[in-house]
Amino acid sequence: MTTIFEPRADDGAFVLPGATIAGVAQRAVDVRDTTPIYNAATGVVIGWQEHANVAQIDDAVRAARTALPRWRATTPASRGQILKRIAELIEHSRDRLVGAQMRVSGKPPLEAEQDVSDAVATFDYYAALCDDVGLFAPQTVSLPDKTVAGQRYYDAVGVAALIVPWNFPMVTTAWKMAPALAAGCTVVLKPSELTSPVEHMLVGLLAEAGVPDGVVNMVNGGAAVGTQLVEHPLVDKVSFTGSTEVGKRVMRAAANDMKRTTLELGGKSALIVRADADLDSAVSLAVSGAFGNAGQMCSATARILVQDQVYNEFLAKLEAAVGALMVAPPMRAGVSMGPLVSASHLVRVRAMLDAGISDGAAVAFSGRLDESCGKGFFLPPMVVTDPDVDNVLWTDEVFGPVACVKSFHTDDEAIQIANSTRYGLVATVLTADASAAKRYQYSLRAGLVWINTPQLIFPQLCWGGLGLSGIGRELGVEGLRSYQELRHTLSAI
Ligand code: NAD
Repeated sequence: MTTIFEPRADDGAFVLPGATIAGVAQRAVDVRDTTPIYNAATGVVIGWQEHANVAQIDDAVRAARTALPRWRATTPASRGQILKRIAELIEHSRDRLVGAQMRVSGKPPLEAEQDVSDAVATFDYYAALCDDVGLFAPQTVSLPDKTVAGQRYYDAVGVAALIVPWNFPMVTTAWKMAPALAAGCTVVLKPSELTSPVEHMLVGLLAEAGVPDGVVNMVNGGAAVGTQLVEHPLVDKVSFTGSTEVGKRVMRAAANDMKRTTLELGGKSALIVRADADLDSAVSLAVSGAFGNAGQMCSATARILVQDQVYNEFLAKLEAAVGALMVAPPMRAGVSMGPLVSASHLVRVRAMLDAGISDGAAVAFSGRLDESCGKGFFLPPMVVTDPDVDNVLWTDEVFGPVACVKSFHTDDEAIQIANSTRYGLVATVLTADASAAKRYQYSLRAGLVWINTPQLIFPQLCWGGLGLSGIGRELGVEGLRSYQELRHTLSAI
């Protein structure tokens, strides 16, 4: 595979090619666009991302189409061996990948490490699923008419377009690429143009892992590239992770050819603290749930509901915990929270804060920025208490370090408040009462409910939301099935 980090003659920064097609990095003469890649923690441009042009996108899809018959015909076990090898190579490249995430997104070391571990676990999990013969073998369907035989089997959907955002670039890519390859699909990946160095590194490992040329292709750029990819008639499936607004556009565009879609979108999730919960652990989970990855998580539990008996005590502990967070560049010893991904995202989050505040919300307390933050895209963690239920900070996804806290009296009230949203991605419940926990588990409208745990994610459990949080599920067996078509035969011989 061609070298991807090409030095620029003028300023020494790297330039990432607009596309990688059938294993070859493609520099375009008539580049559609080139955008800077920043170090979010310093605000300095560290490289440039070329955007794929129209011909490159077409070539990438056609390369995936050409590679499809042979890849689809390989055995699941042989695909599993390749996935296992990808997991090993990611693990071997851990330091490089961690370093790239810290350098681009400004993620603190522990968060960058966790992303690599999640990617490894995902490839390992789907490698193991490939050895589960029952998941891939045709199954006989028992019929009342014994003169005919029915069979059901799963077949690869075809060419899958994988479109991912910038907040967990390598993880989201792994969640899509591993099941797609396991299913026998070939893919065209479009990472976010803000964080693409990480995906360039990942794609750079695939040839060594034994992925044949053309099975994984990559096109780079922003909305224009994503749009063209989704609309390409030779794409059979679109797996998109991103904002709900763009998800709607993707769904409309995919409808023209009835492309299969998986949409992992936004959230406005609740964390519920009952009075019987351990308050120290509740505060710790509230902090990680709202301010992990600087709040740039679809699963951010940014609506914190606390039972009224312990509301004041919880708030006092939360204020102390938020005050103790060190917001700083990733190399600073003791860092607990990094920057937002870009200057424009910082502007967007600030504008939302201003709108919420001018509409009556008030920041009760906030953390502070370490002096090392300099010109990076940092924002301190902020806590808003008791905003109106129609305040934008309570209703909309901020995707930044802003959490709202409200009190509740009864479980009924907490469930009603938590469910008063059109999103439904996740929820967290903290309680010592097992029967109360069960009630919340079944009453909260969310794809995943954590009970007395941090936001642990295992590839064995599915990920995906209700309502505006999306359609379909990633991870788990359903994640594999989302890249397969269920087919049947009925035979008289
Ligand atoms: P975004 O929707 O702006 O972009 C996501 C991706 O889609 C990017 O690669 C972008 O270039 C591309 N894109 C933009 N317009 C497109 C179009 N018209 N057609 C096709 N592709 C297009 O989102 P973002 O700002 O990169 O990420 C933040 C959002 O992602 C948040 O809303 C967050 O909740 C969501 N997210 C959801 C999950 C989940 O699992 N549910 C996980 C991570 C992030």
